[in-house]
Amino acid sequence: MRILCTGAGGFIGSWLVKRLKADGHYVMGADLKRPEFEPASPADFFHLRDLREFANCMMVTQQIDTVYNLAADMGGIGFITSHLADVARNNALINLNMLEACRQNNVKRYLFTSSACVYPLGRQMVTDGMPLKETDAWPADPEDGYGWEKLFSEQMCAYYRKDHGLNVRIVRLHNVYGPLGTFTGGREKSPAAICRKVAQAKDGDAIEVWGDGKQTRTYLYIHDCIEGLVRIMQSGYQRPLNLGTAELVTVDDLVNLVAGIAAKRLKIVHDESKPQGVRGRSSDNLRLRRTVAWEPSIRLIDGLKETYAWIAAQVARDQNPAPVR
Ligand code: NAD
Repeated sequence: MRILCTGAGGFIGSWLVKRLKADGHYVMGADLKRPEFEPASPADFFHLRDLREFANCMMVTQQIDTVYNLAADMGGIGFITSHLADVARNNALINLNMLEACRQNNVKRYLFTSSACVYPLGRQMVTDGMPLKETDAWPADPEDGYGWEKLFSEQMCAYYRKDHGLNVRIVRLHNVYGPLGTFTGGREKSPAAICRKVAQAKDGDAIEVWGDGKQTRTYLYIHDCIEGLVRIMQSGYQRPLNLGTAELVTVDDLVNLVAGIAAKRLKIVHDESKPQGVRGRSSDNLRLRRTVAWEPSIRLIDGLKETYAWIAAQVARDQNPAPVR
């Protein structure tokens, strides 16, 4: 099969390209940039293109059977809440143009990576609320900017399915983490930021956590994420599906887990002036289990061990760069 993965220079996309190559497919990548933490992408061809431009979307989807559309302007809660217009505009352009290009180039299957940020804020006001079901997304009150755009683009997928017969998959990802993810610079998400802070801290130091640390989340390890994306693509299911875990922890729990892995005793200082996102969020996977007879199973502690080891190695390398010869 000839597969295109957009966002192939990013975190999830770079892992997905590896998996699709290992499965024996012909894989093209497309992104504004090449993978940051690897010497080269294993893609058969890598388009360095801005997918906000329709002509570029037409070019990268030529003679392609299957598209995983992962490209997005995104980041952690601090980034998406301070770039509402740019994020919504950039992502709307990418997703509108990719859908139309896929229609015109007769792409057989199109997968869109949506987000748990589509769920209404009102359903996420307590730390121990009910796991979010796919139907909970309506009536709509998603995360400003990023979440509204994701919900709109989900609807666009449904309209292209109804009006043009495009075979779509819509996956609502819940907090993906793992090696090769951004861990510094402002776009990193909470697990990566916490691993970096723990790696930089000395035993007995204090590290800062945004909010009061009692907000709850579930986290999806990258290998489960990739397995889920591939299985959902293979399924015939065309409506939104959660892809997340049910292992709910507070952000303080997350810090303590990482500090334990690093064997450091650390104090937590809460900065409640910083954005902390919704109060509590977790994923109901009933529909996922019924659809693909599988659900994520990698325990948070196991995923964090891998993630921390990778980020700690990057931090050590950045602190002690190899001498220039
Ligand atoms: P990422 O930022 O690592 O990767 C996104 C990639 O898209 C980047 O490499 C970026 O350069 C590329 N991109 C941005 N604008 C582009 C443009 N105009 N043209 C071409 N490429 C462009 O993010 P990720 O974590 O790998 O996320 C992949 C997808 O999954 C995104 O759609 C994201 O919204 C979604 N998602 C991720 C998470 C998560 O926790 N990581 C959660 C929910 C949804």
